[in-house]
Amino acid sequence: MSSGRWARAWLDSIAALYPESQARLSRGSTWVGDGRVTDIELSPGQISAQIWNTDAVRTTLHVRRLTEPQQAHLVEVVVEQTATIAALLGGELPYALDSLILPTAGDLSVDCECSSGTALCTHAAALVHAVASLVDADPYTLLSLRGSSRSEITTNVQRIHHKRLGLTTVDASHLPRGADPGTSAAAAYRREPQPLERSASLAAQPGRLRPLASAPPADTGIAVNDLSSLVADAAQRAWAMLAEGTTSGLELSTGSDVVRRAANGDVESIAGRTGIDANELAAAAAAWRAGGEPGFRALRDRWQPPHDALTPGIDALTDLEPDTIVKTRENTVTVGAIQLRLDEQGYWWRFEHDPQLGWLLAAPGSPIAAEALSTTNPNGAPAPNGAPNPNGAPNPMRATAAELLDNAAPDSGALELPESDQQEFKS
Ligand SMILES: [Zn+2]
Repeated sequence: MSSGRWARAWLDSIAALYPESQARLSRGSTWVGDGRVTDIELSPGQISAQIWNTDAVRTTLHVRRLTEPQQAHLVEVVVEQTATIAALLGGELPYALDSLILPTAGDLSVDCECSSGTALCTHAAALVHAVASLVDADPYTLLSLRGSSRSEITTNVQRIHHKRLGLTTVDASHLPRGADPGTSAAAAYRREPQPLERSASLAAQPGRLRPLASAPPADTGIAVNDLSSLVADAAQRAWAMLAEGTTSGLELSTGSDVVRRAANGDVESIAGRTGIDANELAAAAAAWRAGGEPGFRALRDRWQPPHDALTPGIDALTDLEPDTIVKTRENTVTVGAIQLRLDEQGYWWRFEHDPQLGWLLAAPGSPIAAEALSTTNPNGAPAPNGAPNPNGAPNPMRATAAELLDNAAPDSGALELPESDQQEFKS
């Protein structure tokens, strides 16, 4: 239970604002004790949480943020007395600030999904008690709710205090900068996506990531390089969305996303870390580079097209190699070391056989079979950089991507690479 002075003062101020809600307030206290308040998000001027009763309900308390003059006044009150300065610099929130920080009439409003019609529903009452617990742990929670922060107040108190002491120069470089209100990661994730505004001043390329100021805490298990590469990848994707109108890629299955990363990165290292066979991943990455996700699908997916659907492919390959037998199987048409694959959207994809990596996508897809044969890969020839396979035979011990990723990606489209082709052109 909340027992600290600030927490009690917070509860008293709410009780005074909602005198008709005493019963709901005490029930709210029980709900907090029962663990019915989860997923708390605090940002300047508001706090919200998930409240569990028969259903989960999201409830939000909006607290009026302190204005600039109010914050300045708060600093003045602190610097009036040595005791309050000492308390603040010692990490306490001086209680002399109570009337400036605690909400009074008009400072608070409730927004609850339950729409009970009461000014303070039991969900909001539970959240009020959850706030009291947070305030007990750190009274500065109240200041954050009012849109300010410990570092902002402390910086200003020190500045004025030093000035009054006659210290003309203050080295402020070590002091925390003014608070950036920011938003919690959970709140940012939950936010409804808004249509993207194409900026007229979009940079010519994605921003470069500055070195991170500090490494993530050791107990997170996140390495600074991994975090940097994730941030760089996110920036690249965001830029591509604005510049090229591509999707975010967040809709990709885990397997497809691994291939996307491999196409833009170090295949061998990704293969090593995921346990996917390096040759298999190299072929998939090459397909992605040549044709994006549809190219990768063309490599991966086999299907049985209707009778006659392959005719344009057969004709195109017969024109190319008039004296060689054209073989068809499922959605593929093959002549020697060249293969056309028809995908279910009606696009033709040209593959060329590599003795080590098997069939490699050589060019972007085209709805016209002859065009797929003549198009060159705008990204240059696929540069397989898979691990060497000196025996020239598939390693029976290797983990296949499908095995690894089937469980990781319950949605369709886990990485599954056909394996049967490697045998066909051995002789
Ligand atoms: Zn409610």
